[in-house]
Amino acid sequence: MSTSFASTTLFRLFIPILIMACVLSSVTHIIAATQANSGFVTNLPYILFSTAFALSHTFKQSRIAMVALSMLIAYGVIQLRLQSPLTTGTTLLELSLLCFLLPVACCLAFLFPDTGVNDRSMYIFVIIVTSFLLWSYLILTHFYTGGFTGFDQDLLIAIPEISRLPLILVLYSLAVTGATGIFLLSYNRPIDAVVYSSIFLASSTFIFFHVPHISSTLFSLAGILVIIYVISASHQMAFNDRLTNIPGRRALEMDMKHLGRKFTIAMLDVDHFKKFNDTYGHDTGDDVLKLVASRMLGVGGNAKVYRYGGEEFTILIKGKTAKDSKVLLEQLRKEIADYEMVLRDTTQRPDNHKKGAKNRVSDKNGSTVSVTVSIGAADSKTTRNPDEVLKKADKALYLAKEKGRNQVQCAR
Ligand code: GH3
Ligand code: MG
Ligand code: MG
Repeated sequence: MSTSFASTTLFRLFIPILIMACVLSSVTHIIAATQANSGFVTNLPYILFSTAFALSHTFKQSRIAMVALSMLIAYGVIQLRLQSPLTTGTTLLELSLLCFLLPVACCLAFLFPDTGVNDRSMYIFVIIVTSFLLWSYLILTHFYTGGFTGFDQDLLIAIPEISRLPLILVLYSLAVTGATGIFLLSYNRPIDAVVYSSIFLASSTFIFFHVPHISSTLFSLAGILVIIYVISASHQMAFNDRLTNIPGRRALEMDMKHLGRKFTIAMLDVDHFKKFNDTYGHDTGDDVLKLVASRMLGVGGNAKVYRYGGEEFTILIKGKTAKDSKVLLEQLRKEIADYEMVLRDTTQRPDNHKKGAKNRVSDKNGSTVSVTVSIGAADSKTTRNPDEVLKKADKALYLAKEKGRNQVQCAR
């Protein structure tokens, strides 16, 4: 269970779209159901976003907490300020301000590191959001003193058939949603999914604001998604290795139970890594492990990769024999060997080049280093017991080391 369904990019990208399609297609039922349970449904987003905030706090996901807080405040503004028709008073102006500022607040979360909720960054975030509210208050005061006569005829032109919201804000909402969607496609971290779904569903609320009970419905669904993503983030934290951020030993043990009939297990070990650490320092060693992990993630061919421990990694390939997998593993070995990693701190270069060469570390122009890996693979041909296949892969790895390292060996 190293990757739950809720952590796949496609799920995260399409679920808000699916939600919107369902809501729009059954809007009359939703209105009837909401009217029948009006008190509960109206308060549901408060409950869900408060829960999301508390969970993010528990799981030290402060950035998700920031988004949950922004959504909570936005929903409060909708309920307290925006329940009168859009044509009266400052309702349309207030909706426009909210539509502009909520995505900004959500995206601000990207600028902060992920730490506990009590951290200083949370206080800074709260100050920024308060300043947004104050700024909006000043704009509204300016409006009341006659500062915006005719504003809705000029800048805030709307096409009522699409939305009562000014056209420029509809375009803005689409652009921000699209940009966060691209972020999600590129990185697929829980925070990307949270920001994308919150902005998608909040913007849809603003665009279709004339539909009765749209805010409680879409904000409730956004709240449920945020809670799912907080749980999925904590799941990732528990199953992923902290240094390399790929699944760790625990995830491997879980996944080894579901390998099916035909599979290959490969063990990968960095060559002469102890000497590498001694020469370049432990931090550069850590960078190499991250690099090896990132290269492994791109291995393709339906393979799943794990950090087994130390400088050892495991690859599970379902539906392929060791012979079938060899090309893939050879490619990976070569890619790692050919990669030249730039040294962050050149003062940590080896004192003499002979020593570096002996360590199988090339330091050609004085600022890059590279490592090699040995790989041992075994498949389920003779035994389907994953633990035994792993032991055979380990033996094949040992053979690869004995035969001179920087090579792939398959168990017979
Ligand atoms: P071989 O080619 O036979 O595999 O030699 P080796 O030096 O790679 O093997 P050995 O098992 O003797 O050393 C493994 C080293 O890996 C020892 C330890 O310092 C280093 N190591 C293990 N975990 C980490 C880590 O998380 N970060 C860093 N920087 N080094 C680690
Ligand atoms: Mg080792
Ligand atoms: Mg090693």
